[in-house]
Amino acid sequence: MAALQQARICKGCWEQMHVPVPLRGVISAPFRAFGIRPSRMNPNTCTICELMFTKVMRARKITIDATIMFADLRGYTSLSQSQSPDAVSGLLDAFYDECANAIWEHDGLLNKTIGDAVMAVFNFPLHREEHARNAVLAARQIQTSWRERRATLVEAHGLTADQLGIGIGIHSGELSFGEFGHSHRDLTAIGTVVNTASRAQSVAEADQILVTRAVFERVQPDMKDSQSKAFQLKGFDAPVELYLA
Ligand SMILES: [Zn+2]
Repeated sequence: MAALQQARICKGCWEQMHVPVPLRGVISAPFRAFGIRPSRMNPNTCTICELMFTKVMRARKITIDATIMFADLRGYTSLSQSQSPDAVSGLLDAFYDECANAIWEHDGLLNKTIGDAVMAVFNFPLHREEHARNAVLAARQIQTSWRERRATLVEAHGLTADQLGIGIGIHSGELSFGEFGHSHRDLTAIGTVVNTASRAQSVAEADQILVTRAVFERVQPDMKDSQSKAFQLKGFDAPVELYLA
């Protein structure tokens, strides 16, 4: 795995305020003393960026146009029954690593890991006009790097390739981002856009990337030859058209 190029100063603070906030090296020490450190969700941004809107706008949540990506490691549940706990956690670590690298290289936020799935947000805190395209490029990178890495993993664990595929779903639109919950504060995105991305992921086959029409339209002309199919998604009355990316 190639080492990720890590920014020396916070990309978010620099782009939005032209303030150089050091993230690494000796000069970052005084900042760290004040709790300003690389964000765990995107190490090229800082912990202030994550919560900028709560400080500046005094809001607990903001409405933004963003892209949500869910990636899920298929066959993980059955693997956890046939493999040792060490082998299973090693596979999951490899999967998280590949997802993190691809998401951060495309300026996205690895918002959370949910068992054998990851959820990423694009367009926060780094603003990117092309956030839908970035999400698709990150998804393609995850699939490519996973296919290369899988060969060794499959051999080491006596599995078949289709037992270790990744299914990905992507959707773009307005969503609510902020701190939700009282006893346990969770910084995340909520709304229909999030649910739709999650449902698209659930119907994607191993090695597939399925995106909604909103993403398809934003990523033109790159996706002009993309095939589509209508899916009956859980919780949706009408069938939803999904496109192969
Ligand atoms: Zn920052």
